[in-house]
Amino acid sequence: MRIGAIEAGGTKFVCGVGNEEGIIEDRVSFPTEQPEQTTKNVIAYFQDKGVEAIGVGSFGPIDLDPTSPLYGYVTTTPKPGWANYPLLSTLKEAFDVPFGWDTDVNAAAFGEATWGAAKGLDSCVYYTIGTGVGVGVYTEGKMVHGLVHPEGGHVLTRRHPEDDFAGVCPYHGDCLEGMAAGPALEKRWKVKGSELTVDHPAWTIEAFYIGQAVASAILMLSPKKIILGGGVMHQEQLFPMIRAEVKKNLNGYVSAKAILEDIDSYIVSPGLGDNAGLCGALALGLAAAQGK
Ligand code: ADP
Ligand code: ZN
Repeated sequence: MRIGAIEAGGTKFVCGVGNEEGIIEDRVSFPTEQPEQTTKNVIAYFQDKGVEAIGVGSFGPIDLDPTSPLYGYVTTTPKPGWANYPLLSTLKEAFDVPFGWDTDVNAAAFGEATWGAAKGLDSCVYYTIGTGVGVGVYTEGKMVHGLVHPEGGHVLTRRHPEDDFAGVCPYHGDCLEGMAAGPALEKRWKVKGSELTVDHPAWTIEAFYIGQAVASAILMLSPKKIILGGGVMHQEQLFPMIRAEVKKNLNGYVSAKAILEDIDSYIVSPGLGDNAGLCGALALGLAAAQGK
């Protein structure tokens, strides 16, 4: 089976073709421009690919409610040109195949549960910590939509006692994204995150915020795996620091072996690596092809 996958990001779009084993056979990437130009590029890519279904994992907020007149739209984004853009229907007009549609991070969680670090589990939470912070929630074998869809990047966190940084979220200032996404690191320390040394105090503060959010996710959702991806999580020294923060915050209250004895395999990096998003879109496409 040939399935199309679209990881529709705010910075770049990645399109690919893969199969039911989660193997990506071909891929392209282009910067996210105005929506008309961007969808033109997507359509041109898939024109001769002969895919049987297409999955789209999109940046948001997006409308996931099939009964809504705005279903398939990118809704209230500040990204120029993209607010209230009918992304899904534009693609559906070009290709008469079943489509899967979800947030980029729900897709990544689903991809990880299908082929990656949460394979065989019926729940996981996927964080991307990059240009923004996004959280995908997969539970009881389904991606959580609810009222809109989870927006766990914007949860409020307690301030680190030595941190007086105001935060960069235009809505909340010092929410998780405002304090811990790549642009927050860069604004706080005046250099790009990738240029901070591994022993820089930045990572103590970074782990402090992420650890709080992850502890809250565990308390709220009781997921069987937590997966931390995105550009900032390329800083591998963060993993043990975040695990320690999570343990400190939970303080033994959640009596699960996975947390108390084996947290190294509970809070992990994406099994699909930097392919988590695209493989997630592929998993959505595959589910659509199977009529799920
Ligand atoms: P996006 O979120 O746009 O899809 P990424 O997940 O690659 O893309 O995240 C990009 C952000 O991550 C940027 O703010 C960048 O500065 C930051 N970043 C990328 N690589 C690293 C790294 N090795 N260490 C720290 N921060 C990084
Ligand atoms: Zn926010």
